[in-house]
Amino acid sequence: MNDNYRAMNFSAGPSILPEEVLKKCAAEILNYEGTGESVMEMSHRSSEFKKICEEAEMNLRTLMNIPEDYYVLFLQGGGTLQFSMIPINLMTESGKADYVVSGEWGKKAYQEALKFGDVRKLASSEDKLFSYIPKFNKEDIREDVDYVYVCYNNTIYGTHYNEFPDVGDHLLVADMSSCILSEEIDVSKFGLIFAGAQKNIAPAGLTIVIVRKDLVGKASEKTPVYLDYGVHAKKDSMYNTPPCWSIYVAGEVFKHLINTGGINAVYEKNLRKANKLYDCIDSSKLFRGTARKEDRSIMNITFVTGDPDLDKKFVSEAKEKGMLNLAGHRSIGGIRASLYNALPEEYVDALINFMKKFESENV
Ligand SMILES: *Cc1c(COP(=O)(O)O)cnc(C)c1O
Repeated sequence: MNDNYRAMNFSAGPSILPEEVLKKCAAEILNYEGTGESVMEMSHRSSEFKKICEEAEMNLRTLMNIPEDYYVLFLQGGGTLQFSMIPINLMTESGKADYVVSGEWGKKAYQEALKFGDVRKLASSEDKLFSYIPKFNKEDIREDVDYVYVCYNNTIYGTHYNEFPDVGDHLLVADMSSCILSEEIDVSKFGLIFAGAQKNIAPAGLTIVIVRKDLVGKASEKTPVYLDYGVHAKKDSMYNTPPCWSIYVAGEVFKHLINTGGINAVYEKNLRKANKLYDCIDSSKLFRGTARKEDRSIMNITFVTGDPDLDKKFVSEAKEKGMLNLAGHRSIGGIRASLYNALPEEYVDALINFMKKFESENV
């Protein structure tokens, strides 16, 4: 097989990265900028790595327009550790928080938070298999909660907050693991945003936390040291060895995004890709979208034929055509195409062509 062969990877995560970035990382893998070391081998205390880390943070701040009064932390433990760190660090005044359960990840976050305080479900869409974003009135939020929690893009179900979740004067916390950097976000409307890197940014191992500075440093004294945002903030994410390689790749992805027009440009492309695919689904006699239209995600697109065996046949025939990872999440089945930033528009065109062919052969 051709050494440079690249499949069309529709994985929900870990997922596709920009080819230009992978090539640059490959070119530097033995000798990073004349040091004679790989970034994988480099001391995290070296001046070279410090520069990589500082530039990555600076470029992320530029891309997302992150205000000065927010920390950017580079942590480990995935999105999952944030399900614990958020209540440990933020549920410290009233000990109460309200959670919107709009999918499996929101449910996991809610269940974890129950261990740490007085946690309530503010709204849920579990009644209809999380196929929509559940609404709430800001008056329904308990007055003294420390925060309100939402999952901004539901990776498994293909739903997204297309309307901003208005929580009034309350603090809003959002899991943006599968939509960070895909669209413009006003960071100042959030107390905390977090994202595991492996969906839209970098290889697994890095979790990015963007948190307002005044919220940090309130965890109790018994908090395990790694779980305290204050410790990481004070040490510029270098309290212990950070996920160096993943931070380096993330930094390269940030530079690549800046050089290709920033978030606005990638959002336009994302929208074009998603609309094409949704148009194909909506005009099909075979395929049907599973998310409510007004809540559709442009990152994760979920659909079914209505026949689980036919879904499986579709996924396996697509694989033969070089289109990988189109199976829906193992918990719900069906078909899911993840169209993250790095996924070229041509892959969507190829998928649409294949869907039309498959439809003509199977209806
Ligand atoms: C993937 C994902 C997670 C879990 O991330 P891990 O890094 O595997 O812990 C959490 N939230 C969302 C929205 C995700 O897509």
